[in-house]
Amino acid sequence: MTIREALAQGAGFFKSADIDTPALDAGLLLAEVLHTSRASLIAAGPDSISEENYRSFQALLERRLSGECVAYILGRKEFRGLEFTVTPAVLVPRPDTETLVEAALEKLATEDGSTDNRVKILDLCTGSGAVAISLKHELPRLEVWASDISEATLEIARANATRLLGGRPLGTELAAPAEPIHFFQGDLFAPLKNPSLLPTHYSLIVSNPPYVCTGEIEGLSPEVRREPLLALDGGEDGLDLIRRIIAEAPAHLLPGGWLLLEADPRQMKAIAALLETKGYKKIQTYRDLSGQERVIGASINE
Ligand code: GLN
Repeated sequence: MTIREALAQGAGFFKSADIDTPALDAGLLLAEVLHTSRASLIAAGPDSISEENYRSFQALLERRLSGECVAYILGRKEFRGLEFTVTPAVLVPRPDTETLVEAALEKLATEDGSTDNRVKILDLCTGSGAVAISLKHELPRLEVWASDISEATLEIARANATRLLGGRPLGTELAAPAEPIHFFQGDLFAPLKNPSLLPTHYSLIVSNPPYVCTGEIEGLSPEVRREPLLALDGGEDGLDLIRRIIAEAPAHLLPGGWLLLEADPRQMKAIAALLETKGYKKIQTYRDLSGQERVIGASINE
């Protein structure tokens, strides 16, 4: 069997199973087995695939067909050009969430367009660390704090930060720069109540909290249902965490600071109303790649 035939076979299985991106998924899995890129697979199309590689490919096809997403099978997912390690302990970073990073970059842009931005920011429910790490990567002078309630999740986020931003290798404590991102465990703002090490106020607070309505969890695709429930379930109307963040953020924002939240497009009106009730100003939404309102932001008074 040739590489091209194996690829077509895999894509065919995925298509019959109604997988959204059959050719892409099959290509990513075959490239993984052959330790190459998807682009090189095309060139290698007429070559034959060894028995052993074919068997490994079949094993990955079966995992995908059983409802495991490609990101969990490969253990990585690209987000804003960076490759994040992902495990079932973290939500797979979505392209939608790049909108949150873009909105944050817009708010953090200095007036003269320079990147000399030393402000403090906080990322709540950081998960794989995708948002916090992307922001620090693009604005290296930012001071970034990021938290999650799950210690298992934070382990992945810390590993991602060290690999993608560089860290402090063991034994070089004094010479090397400090941890690029300050991760801490806790339930939203609770750890800031005892601020021995944490700043109490930030210029920007971002979050992609769990926001799926409990009643909709069962109807999610098998792929999403393998992701941590803790990262998805936002309570009856999906707004449990968002409500708490909106209520507590003003006590932790510097004057003129911004809160940016990712949520479901159907929740935007309700969230705007909550923000207004709590006295936020300049409420605005940002659209994701599919044109839907995916991020909402607001500021507190100067
Ligand atoms: N966007 C995710 C989904 O559609 C939900 C992520 C979240 O709850 N933060 O499954």
